[in-house]
Amino acid sequence: MTRRITFEKLGTDGKARTGVIRTTRGDIRTPAFMPVGTAATVKAMMPESVAETGADILLGNTYHLMLRPGAERIAQLGGLHRFMNWERPILTDSGGFQVMSLADLRKLTEKGVTFKSHIDGSRHELTPERSMEIQRLLGSDIVMCFDECPALPATDQAVAESMRLSMRWAERSKDAFGDRPGHALFGIMQGGVTPDLREESAEALVDIGFDGYAVGGLAVGEGQEAMFGVLDYAPGFLPQDKPRYLMGVGKPDDIVGAVARGIDMMDCVLPSRSGRTGQAWTRRGQVNIKNARHADDPRPLDEACTCPACRNYSRAYLHHVFRAQEMISGMLLTWHNLHYYQELMQSMREAIAAGTFGAFQSDFHAQRSEGDIEPL
Ligand SMILES: [Zn+2]
Repeated sequence: MTRRITFEKLGTDGKARTGVIRTTRGDIRTPAFMPVGTAATVKAMMPESVAETGADILLGNTYHLMLRPGAERIAQLGGLHRFMNWERPILTDSGGFQVMSLADLRKLTEKGVTFKSHIDGSRHELTPERSMEIQRLLGSDIVMCFDECPALPATDQAVAESMRLSMRWAERSKDAFGDRPGHALFGIMQGGVTPDLREESAEALVDIGFDGYAVGGLAVGEGQEAMFGVLDYAPGFLPQDKPRYLMGVGKPDDIVGAVARGIDMMDCVLPSRSGRTGQAWTRRGQVNIKNARHADDPRPLDEACTCPACRNYSRAYLHHVFRAQEMISGMLLTWHNLHYYQELMQSMREAIAAGTFGAFQSDFHAQRSEGDIEPL
C-alpha cells in the first residue's frame, strides 16, 4: 500500500475530459458517478449489485458514520470497506456540509463546529483535525477537507469570510492528514457565485497542494442556471492535471452539463432516493411508476436497458409492487436508476475519447425531449 493515487487524462473534447484515477483498490474511470452509501449501505442495494451497475467508487458520509455506528467501532471491525463489504474505492465527505444541514444547535468557531446529533441529541465536535481522524479510521481512499458551506443567498462579505475560514481549515486538514501513501486528500473550492472569490479560493488551495479539487458550495438550491454559471469559469482556476469533483450533483442533465464544463467526478443521492419513491430516470426523461397508466402495461421501463428491472419485469409489475409498498419496488427501481446513471457516464467517457461529445449532448437532449413512450 505504498502506491500514490494518480490521475491520467486519456482524452479531452472541448472542456470535457475522460481519464482514470488509479488507486490501490482499483481504477476509477472518469467522468465518474459515485452512488451514495450514507450509512455504510447504498439503500436497497447489495454491494455486489452496485458493482454490477458499473460503479467504480462509492461515497460514504462522515457525519452519519461518526454518529452511528461510530468511526472507532468501524476501525476496530477492519475499516469501512470490510464493514460494508465493498472492496472498491470509497470517498468520504468531511461531515461539514451535513452538520450544517442536519444537526441541531450548531456553534461555529475558528476551531470547528460543535453540534447535537439529530439521532439522539448527544453533543459532538467536528474540527479539521477530527474530520481527518474519522476519515482515517474509516479507511477511505479519497478524503475530503473539512470546510464550511454558507447557505445561499448570502452577502459577498459573508461568502468571503466563510471561504477564508474554509481555506484556513483546508491548511489544517492538510497538516492533520499528513503523508499517507495510497490515500488522497482533496481540497474544496468555495466562494459562492463570485468569480473573484472562486479564484482566490482556488489559489489558496493550489498553494497548499492537494491530490484533487472539489467545486463546493453548489447544488444547494441555487438552480441549474446559476450552477452552470459558476462552472463556466470556476474549473478553469484549478490545475488541469488533477481530478475535479462537483459535490452533490445531480440530475442527468446537470451531470452532462457539468462534464461539458470540465468536471470529472460527481455524487448524488438522487438515483437511489428516487428509486424508493417510484421515480425512474431513463434516456427519455423521468417516469413516475405510480401513475395509473402503467397498471396494464406489459412493456419494460426502457426496452433498451439491460438492468434486471427492465430485462425481467413489466411496467405493470413495477407499478403493482410500488402501490403494494413491497420492498422489491425500491430494489428494482434503484438498480435501474443506478444502472442508467452508470451507462450515461460510460457513454460520455466513450464520446469524449472519440471526440464526439457535442453529438452525444445533442442526442441526449433530443431523446429526453421526446418524453416517455406513448401509453398503450
Ligand atoms: Zn433498466
